[in-house]
Amino acid sequence: MELIIAKTAGFCMGVDLALHKLDNAVANPPQEGIIYTLGPIIHNPQVLELYKSQGVQQTDGKKNLAATDVVIIRAHGIPRQILDRFKDQNITIIDATCPKVKKAQILIHKQAEQNKHLLLFGERDHPEVRGLVSYAPKHTVFESLEELRTHTLHDGQKYFLAAQTTQDRESFDAIRDYLLLNVDSSMVILDTICAATKDRQEEVRELSGRVQAMIVVGGKNSGNTRRLAQIALETGIYTVHIEIAQELPIKELAQFERIGLTAGASTPSWIIADVATTLQERLRYSSEEKSKKKL
Ligand code: SF4
Repeated sequence: MELIIAKTAGFCMGVDLALHKLDNAVANPPQEGIIYTLGPIIHNPQVLELYKSQGVQQTDGKKNLAATDVVIIRAHGIPRQILDRFKDQNITIIDATCPKVKKAQILIHKQAEQNKHLLLFGERDHPEVRGLVSYAPKHTVFESLEELRTHTLHDGQKYFLAAQTTQDRESFDAIRDYLLLNVDSSMVILDTICAATKDRQEEVRELSGRVQAMIVVGGKNSGNTRRLAQIALETGIYTVHIEIAQELPIKELAQFERIGLTAGASTPSWIIADVATTLQERLRYSSEEKSKKKL
């Protein structure tokens, strides 16, 4: 069996940076306070469990923290109002918002200050989206061009378009063209999509054409990991989405000569390496067993 691991498998720059900041905080903990992350630092249960065992706790931002506590803002960013509340409480804030998300927040804020209405292409319940819209008092979130068409856009109002960083580029371009053609040819379009997601998706599509089966590793609650699995599945090959090596369906995978392996942007390299090693060892073992039976 040949195993091909995608070059883009695993952490993106923003997640890597955020976890470095959290690691630094864990290595230099506050003397009396607690280290909190606002919500999960990333969508990966194994990584979260590890930090929990090191004393890192999660807060939902609703309860007041002690001035001695440290709060890490995760890569997705947080709503401006919560950030301001932490500042008012004099809590030590370690801002691990991905620089690309930060840039999107700043760009949105600048446009919104000119009394413009934000049209945001994204998932309305996603933490990054909640953070982005907090910088634009007037906003509309939509998840597709079809949904955008159902909204009434008013003649007297100036609009601008932006997207959640992980949205699909092709869909965004279609939305942009629709707005420029039908609503306002001079509308400001903010290019806030991150190439990390697209690069991963393109590679999994390409890799799916060269293998017979695809293993996608990452949190079941990670949107970008689920999307990778969906892309592989849509190409028609056998696809399995797992979080850890123990979930590998060895019997099914044993039928394939060439297998691809990719992972979401929040999957650490040690889990990817563990899946690769376990797969190779278990498949070797099962083929040895088969040969013994034939003898
Ligand atoms: S996917 Fe892109 S925007 Fe999102 S955290 Fe990673 S690098 Fe940042």
